[in-house]
This record gives sequence, C-alpha cells and structure tokens, in this order.
Amino acid sequence: MAKVIDGKAYAEGLRGRIAKAVTGLKSAHGLTPGLAVVLVGEDPASKVYVANKAKQTVEVGMNSWEHKLPAETPEADVLALVEKLNNDPAVHGILVQLPLPKHIDSMKVLTAISPAKDVDGFHVVNVGKLSTGQDSLVPCTPVGSVMLAKDVLGKLDGLEAVVIGRSNIVGKPVAQLLLAENCTVTIAHSRTKDLPGVVRRADLVIAAVGRPEMVKGDWLKPGATVIDVGINRIERDGKGKLVGDCDYASCEKVAGAITPVPGGVGPMTIACLLYNTVKAACAAKGIAQPEM
Ligand code: NDP
Repeated sequence: MAKVIDGKAYAEGLRGRIAKAVTGLKSAHGLTPGLAVVLVGEDPASKVYVANKAKQTVEVGMNSWEHKLPAETPEADVLALVEKLNNDPAVHGILVQLPLPKHIDSMKVLTAISPAKDVDGFHVVNVGKLSTGQDSLVPCTPVGSVMLAKDVLGKLDGLEAVVIGRSNIVGKPVAQLLLAENCTVTIAHSRTKDLPGVVRRADLVIAAVGRPEMVKGDWLKPGATVIDVGINRIERDGKGKLVGDCDYASCEKVAGAITPVPGGVGPMTIACLLYNTVKAACAAKGIAQPEM
C-alpha cells in the first residue's frame, strides 16, 4: 500500500514557518507583508476560496485586503483598482480571483498586475523568468505539488516525471519546476497517444487533468510517486464527493506514495500563496527572504 502524502499536515507546517518568518520581518525590519485579493462577481466557489485566503493571510500575521466588486463592474474599473494596488506600497501581493465575468478580458487584467506583486505567478514576465531559469514568483499549485514530491522523494534529480495536463496554471509551470529539479520531463495532454504507456514510464506522476479518476493503478510503474492535482466533484451513492484525477483505490495498491483528494495538493495552494507574498514583500524591501 502506498504511503499517503499528507498535504494538509505539510501545509499546516509551512504556514507555521511562514508565521514565524512574518514575526521576524516585523521585528527586524518593520515589514508586514500584505495581500490584496480582488473578487468580481458572486461565483460561490470563488467566494469560498477568497474567504479562506483572507482568513489564512490574517492567521500568519500578514495584512489582508478583500476587494469585492459586483459582477457587472466594467473592465476599466477592475484595471483602475489593479493600478491603485500596484501603487500602494503596503500591498506586496495582488491576486485577482479567476474566473472573471465574461465581459472582462482575464489576460488583460493579469497583465496589468505589476510582475513584482504577481503572487499567482501568471504574468508573462514571471512565466518567462520561470522558463529561463530565473528567480520569479511561481504559480502556487505547481510550487505546492513539487514541495510535496520533494518531501517524499528528497532529491528529484534524474527521475522520469510525467505531467498530465498542459494548462498555464498547472501543467506547464509544474513541468518547468520539475525540469529545474533535473527530472526528465514528459508533458502529456489530450492528444497524447497511449497515455497509459507514457505514464508507466514515470517515477513521478503529476496529474492535472480535470477528469475524475482517469489514471488507473495499472497505468503506474510499481512504486511510483503520484501527485494528484485534480479536484473533481462527482455524485456517488446519491452523495456529492470530491475525487482527484487518479483512481485512488487502484493507484494506492501500486504507487509508492500518493496524495489523497481532498487533503493532498489542495491545502498547499493557499500556503504557497502566503509564501509568495512574503517573498514579494522581501524583494520589495530589498532584504533576503527568510527560511520558510
Ligand atoms: P485545464 O482544463 O486548464 O487543463 C486540463 C489539461 O488536461 C489540458 O492540458 C488537457 O489537454 C488535459 N487533458 C484533458 N483531457 C485529457 C485526457 N483525456 N487525457 C490526457 N490529457 C487530458 O485544467 P487545470 O490545469 O486548470 O486543472 C486541472 C485539474 O487541477 C482540475 O481538476 C482542477 O480542478 C485542478 N486544480 C486544482 C488546484 C488546487 O489544488 N488548488 C488548482 C488548480 C487546478 P489539452 O491541452 O490537449 O486540452
């Protein structure tokens, strides 16, 4: 049976280290990192995410601002708010919650965020820095996924890694991070031929597909480490249930270690957002980033 990778516990530990770092930054440098979150509209899942982000930001001792705008807010007003936050020295991180309402061009809004405050790591400047091996703000879920892989495997040097999914939010950045860790990286997607055969080569599988329980145990190399990024809501036995992109029941019999859903990668995302905000605050102040 695979070792269960406890993302909830890891995230809790990381938040504890972040809280300690924030206390140190306040006393040594008078610096309180601050995160501003912008929510446009009433998407119920987004409202929950934003509330959780704000709560955890405050819990680690940082400043938190929530800007909630009505769904019909014109694009120009959202851009004006982003510009105001760009110019506010107390704000070190800006996160615009996606998805935005259809009349707003998400790429335009994300590009308006100062790259130095882009704690989601979606700005083209940060994407470019990541892909050219420069220090940058890196998307939170990929950072969290690689932290968990390193926690269980130690060094990732030379491992065969297969990333399933090539989105800008997860697949591509996670592949870049694994490349930086010296893995041999394959990126699979919906046009990949013989996906089970490709996955079977992997020492490390990162699944970010959005298809419930797609990856089966017999697709895995025995002992492989499985990081399941997927969060899918399904109905089973008349009840709502969250499942990953991997079929946990069959995968846990073959894998060496596996993240559960929920309780795996999910809790890492906000912890890494807080991590990025501390990183951005230190860079803005021109001081070294503390250990976290
Ligand atoms: P996207 O829909 O943007 O991307 C999905 C990727 O999977 C695409 O590259 C697509 O390929 C590929 N894909 C789809 N079907 C198949 C298939 N049958 N075989 C192989 N590849 C396939 O999703 P995201 O990257 O945004 O999210 C992926 C999952 O991760 C979702 O379940 C999402 O909920 C979850 N997620 C979890 C987060 C967290 O833990 N906090 C954060 C972000 C996402 P193609 O490019 O060819 O279409």
